[in-house]
Parts: sequence; structure tokens; C-alpha cells
Amino acid sequence: MRDLSAGPRVLLKRLRELMAEPLEPQERLDRIVRQIASNMVAEVCSVYVLRSDSILELYATEGLNKDAVHLAQLKMGQGLVGAIAASAQSLNLSDAQSHPAFRYLPETGEEIYHSFLGVPILRAGRSLGVLVVQNKAQRNYREDELEALETTAMVLAEMIATGELKKLTRPGLELDLTRAVTIDGDGYSEGIGLGYVVLHEPRIVVTNLLNEDADTEIRRLAESLGSLRLSIDDMLTRREISQEGEHREVLETYRMFAHDQGWVRRMEEAIHNGLTAEAAVEKVQSDTKARMIRLTDPYLRERMHDFDDLANRLLRQLTGFTPRTTADGFPADAVIFARAMGAAELLDYPRANLRGLVLEEGAVTSHVVIVARAMGIAVVGQAAGAVALAENGDAAIIDGDDGQVHIRPMADLQVAYEEKVKLRARRQEQFRALRDVPSITKDDKRITLQMNAGLLVDLPQLAESGAEGIGLFRTELQFMISSTMPKAEDQENFYRSVMAQAAGRPVTFRTLDIGGDKVVSYFRAHEEENPALGWRAIRLSLDRPGLLRIQLRALLKAAAGAELRIMLPMITEVAEIRAVRELMQKEVQHLSKFGHQLPKRLKFGAMLEVPSLMWQLDELMEEVDFVSVGSNDLFQFTMAVDRGNARVSDRFDILGRPFLRILRDIVRAAEKSNTPLTLCGEMAGKPLSAMALLSIGFRSISMSPTAIGPIKAMLLALDVGQLGAEVHQALDDYRSPVTVREILTRFAGDHNIPL
Ligand code: PEP
Ligand code: MG
Repeated sequence: MRDLSAGPRVLLKRLRELMAEPLEPQERLDRIVRQIASNMVAEVCSVYVLRSDSILELYATEGLNKDAVHLAQLKMGQGLVGAIAASAQSLNLSDAQSHPAFRYLPETGEEIYHSFLGVPILRAGRSLGVLVVQNKAQRNYREDELEALETTAMVLAEMIATGELKKLTRPGLELDLTRAVTIDGDGYSEGIGLGYVVLHEPRIVVTNLLNEDADTEIRRLAESLGSLRLSIDDMLTRREISQEGEHREVLETYRMFAHDQGWVRRMEEAIHNGLTAEAAVEKVQSDTKARMIRLTDPYLRERMHDFDDLANRLLRQLTGFTPRTTADGFPADAVIFARAMGAAELLDYPRANLRGLVLEEGAVTSHVVIVARAMGIAVVGQAAGAVALAENGDAAIIDGDDGQVHIRPMADLQVAYEEKVKLRARRQEQFRALRDVPSITKDDKRITLQMNAGLLVDLPQLAESGAEGIGLFRTELQFMISSTMPKAEDQENFYRSVMAQAAGRPVTFRTLDIGGDKVVSYFRAHEEENPALGWRAIRLSLDRPGLLRIQLRALLKAAAGAELRIMLPMITEVAEIRAVRELMQKEVQHLSKFGHQLPKRLKFGAMLEVPSLMWQLDELMEEVDFVSVGSNDLFQFTMAVDRGNARVSDRFDILGRPFLRILRDIVRAAEKSNTPLTLCGEMAGKPLSAMALLSIGFRSISMSPTAIGPIKAMLLALDVGQLGAEVHQALDDYRSPVTVREILTRFAGDHNIPL
């Protein structure tokens, strides 16, 4: 009887020698398969390599017809070999021909072989090819033989990844590793970015695969596991973390996995088969990843990710790998690829070099996405498999408009996108030239253009865009990107920095607008069936007056000696404004009692987002110093269409008669009472809808900073009076078959108004 444990070790030792010999790639591969066959007492050993056209090509064989090498091929998913590559799972069959996936390739002469053991050649969970052994007799390969073959496949993965096999590829064909791929995800932040892949969790490349002495490696693994466990325990006992619920849960899970016997056993087995400790960690990680990519259950996926994170930590320890500091070797144009990422981690990258962010997970509302959007970086989320398909330094294109990511794009696609980016840059240049031009229409109407913001990273845009101030500062963003509730003094410092950076330009702070789609993890509200209509924004603030008072006090203190502009979100009844005013009064009294300096002036406004206010317009205007229309929510509630649901959100035209008539009524009420009016929803930032707003009487709008240039270019060419006459007539004449959108588009065309 053969010594089972020595088998794979002897084989790996021979393979290591073969790898080191100065051989031509085909010769090396031929000798490798011969070696495997003889070591595993198999009549056949073959290697199939995956090409970029999804064909698995026979690259070397011992036992099958040699003439079939580079000719025999199977499609991904076809036959046993194709099934292994597609599923990234091994197959161990005593009677291959009775398997439903079996496919006979006459050129190989393989019909005489009954038993079949095939394993995927994996790298980072992705199939690069398939390694097969076959025997004439019907036999069941043992578990340790399967393990040994999988371990051997790692050596082949390395050969493919280093590019050695490229030399064997026929002209015009490419290996899958260098294939151009397009991933369809969701566009979370507009824009196009061209650059080079930067893997957020750098892939640690294990070069030292085969061990000299298993016992030493087992010891190294045990030591690393020991210090990994200690570091997790240490993090858990540190005071700051022991308080934090969410963070703690993650660490507890890590601790559980770090002690997982199954995981440890599988790594030890790989070492016994001849791998170094780090190669063993990588092998088990790759197997786990291959399974993870195919999991649909989000809970299980999350657990698998935890294993992946732990494996990375272990690899770092074992290889002495120190992550690259962002300064050195960081590409001038970087597209960051990550499975998921925290907002703070994105801010650690050199901002000037960032062209895009690709996330395998994430949601529009995730913090990192909010921050990326504020930074003006294109984001594609839900890009399945992106991290495994990309290698550091690969060319990449991110299209945040279409939600696509192109990795290693073909030359023509690259050129097309370069043109697009150039065109955008030219337009940006033109808009920048308008920055200091006063925003006055052709018929001399002065229009106030302000920008929306919510984070400190937004502030530099104030000067760059030429916005006159911040018309909407979404204070909830500070809460949303923080893992714990910002303390009173954090809030105060934050507001103070915002005002300092605004350098005298007005900032309108909106009080907390959480709930609905604005999720704050540490503020657990009850599950609601209709969160948009639920316990959110001012409703929540009035029911939790402590929270609101802390914020009001922080704002009052931060604005000491200056003008403070505050507005309230989601007002439904005028009485709510009065209630907040009373709370505010209490805070003012409290601060003056303790000798604090108060703001020089206080402007108190309300957002008009709920249709019920349409029947309280006079009281509303009387109650406040200014009104700001939140057209995103007002449209959602008026038309009963969920703003976040793509199926219905574009169902009705925001420039249709009903909504424009509502907006016109608001303008009329504001004019009657002389109340300053503005609008800060998305429609303010689109040239055509902004034209409509100006035509019905809006003279102040607030938008994302990138929209300021295009909107100014539009209004400089616009005769508001002339357009207004046409639009008012169209709104009054319900029999007219022409839509307001058509009128606006035609008007823009006739008068050369840039849209
Ligand atoms: C709005 O509803 O139009 C608005 C500006 O507020 P938010 O988008 O933050 O809900
Ligand atoms: Mg709103």
C-alpha cells in the first residue's frame, strides 16, 4: 500500500523542480501532467485552460490522444469539464459516462476511461481552467486524492496567472484571464471614469506555494491563528468598541470563525498535502470564494465574507504583507474596486486621483455612496463578481450613467469613452468660464443659484461652482455616515466648519430629515409598511424633542454672531412649525441665560414637500421667513409615486400640467405675502425643468453643484418673460394638445438655449 500522505508531497516537490527548470511552456506543462498521472496512478491527466471566448481548450494531456492538444475544446458548461469550470466545483465519478453532463470528444479517445476526477483551477474564486485525471477501471477517488489534485491545481493557476501559458495561445485567441468583461450593475452616482483598477482589499499574491516541512508550516499557521484570535479579543475589550453594538457584532462573528474547527482543519489538510501555510490559507479562501460567488442567500454570503476577511488578515500576517500606502504607486487615474466599503475609507484615498468606485454590494443609500456622490465620483453598485474579475492595474471604465463597468475594455470602446470624457471636460471648461458671470436672464431678471450640500467634502464646490450660497444643507448626512450618533459638540463643530468654509455665503441648514429612505443604523425605528409616509423627518423630531433641541442648540452656538438660517423638513401642518419655534425659543433663552453669544439674525423657514400645505398657503407664508419647495417629495406625494421605485418614478411627467400648476400656486402665494421662495429638489438642476420653474416665476433655485454651470448657461440665453407668456397660457388652456415639455423644448431650440 502506498504512503498516502507522502503521495501529494512527493508530487508537489517534483512540480516545484519542474517549475524551476528552464523549459518551454508546453514542455513544462507536458511534464507536469505526466508527473501528476504517474503520482496518482492514473492513466490520464489533462489540463484544460479557459479562453476569453468561454471555450475550454485542451492544453496538455498524458494518456489521451496527443494530437487533440489545442484542438479538443468544450464550451463553458458543456460536458464534465465545462460543468466543473462553470460551477467551480470538483467532480468525482466512478462511471463518468453515465453522468448526464458527459460529452464524448472523439478526437481524444477517452471512451475507454470510466473513472474521472476533475477539479477547477481557481484564482480568487474564479475558474481559469480544469485539471482532470482518469482511470480505466471503475474506482472511487479518495477524499485525500481529491485534496491533492486541488492543491496541484493551485500550481497551474499560478502558471496561468503569471502569463506563461499565453505563449501557447494561438494568434487571435486570448486566455480568459485577460478577457474584456462588462459587468452590469446599478448606477449610483453619475459620471464616467477612465482609469486603472485599484483593489480596495489588495490581493495578496502568495508566491511561495510549496512547503519544505509540513510541521513547520502547521506551527506557523497555529501561531498566526493565535495572534489573529488575540487581536480580535483585544479589539473586543477596547472600551470604545465594547460600547458599539453593530461593530461589536461583527467582531464577535469574527471571533467565532477564528475558532471554527472546520476552517482550521481544511487549512491544515492543505499543508499536509504540501502547501505553505499562506498557500493553504489562500487555497481554502479561494474554494470558499468560489462557493460564495454562487450563493444567493444574503445572510450566508455575509458569513462567507467574514471568512474571506479573516483569511485576508491571516495572509497579511503570514506573508508580512503591508498594505500599500495610498501615496506610493497609486495610479493618477484610479477606479477603486471593493466588495463593500466604509465612507471613511473612501476619504482616505487621494481624492484628485479618484475616477470611480465599483462596489459588489452597496445601495444608493449606503454611506460610501453618499460620500462618493458628494465628491463627484462615478459609482456603480451591485457589480457582481467585479473584484474577482479585476486585477490591480487593469484598465477599467466606469459608467455611472448606465451602471456599467468595463474591465480590460477593447480598444474601440476605450476610444469611444475617451471621446465622451473629453467632450464632458470641454463642456465643464465652458461652464467654469461662466462662474463669475452674474446670473441674469436675457430680459434682465436676476436669478439666485444656490447649491445643495450635506458634508464637508461638498464645501470646496461652493467657490468652484460660483453658487451664491447653500440653499439646502442636509444635516442628516453627518448622522448617516457616522456609526454612532454624533454628539452635541461634534454637531456644533461640524456646523461651525461648514459656516467657516462658506465664508460669509448664506447656508440654509435643514434640521434632521431621517426616516423614509434615509437610514440611520443606530437609530432603530420600527419596521414600517410605508416608510415614506411614516415616522420621519419633523414628525420624529417632534416626538423626540431631545434630539431636535440638541441640534438646534448646536446650530445656535455654531452661528454665534452670524446669521442662522434653519428650515424644517416634511411640514404637514403649520402647527408643527409653531411647535419647533417654541423649542427654539427655549434654546435661545437657555443660551442667553448662560451668557452665550447668539446669532445676529435668525431666519426660520419650512420646506414645502407635503401637498396638505397647499391648503394652508396663507398661514404658512405668514408663519415663516422663507419657504423652500422640496420638489422630490412634493412630486412623490402629489402623484403618489415612490421616488425610489424605478417602475413608477418616471411614470408621470414632472413638467406635466398638474405639478406645474401646483408650483405656480405656490409662487403666487409667496408673491402675495412677499415671502422669499426657493426650490431645492432635483428638478432645479436640469436645464429644461429649471426653464419651466423660471417661466412660472421662481427666481431662486438650489441644486447639486455640478448643475450650476449648465443652468447658468441656460438662463443667460433665456427670455423669461417671453417663455412665461407661453407657459402660463398652456397651463391655463386645458384643451391644448401640446404638452408644456414640448413647448419648452421647442422654445429652447428656436432660441438656441443650451440644454
Ligand atoms: C426634496 O424632497 O425635494 C428635497 C430636496 O429633500 P430630500 O431630497 O432630501 O428629501
Ligand atoms: Mg425631501
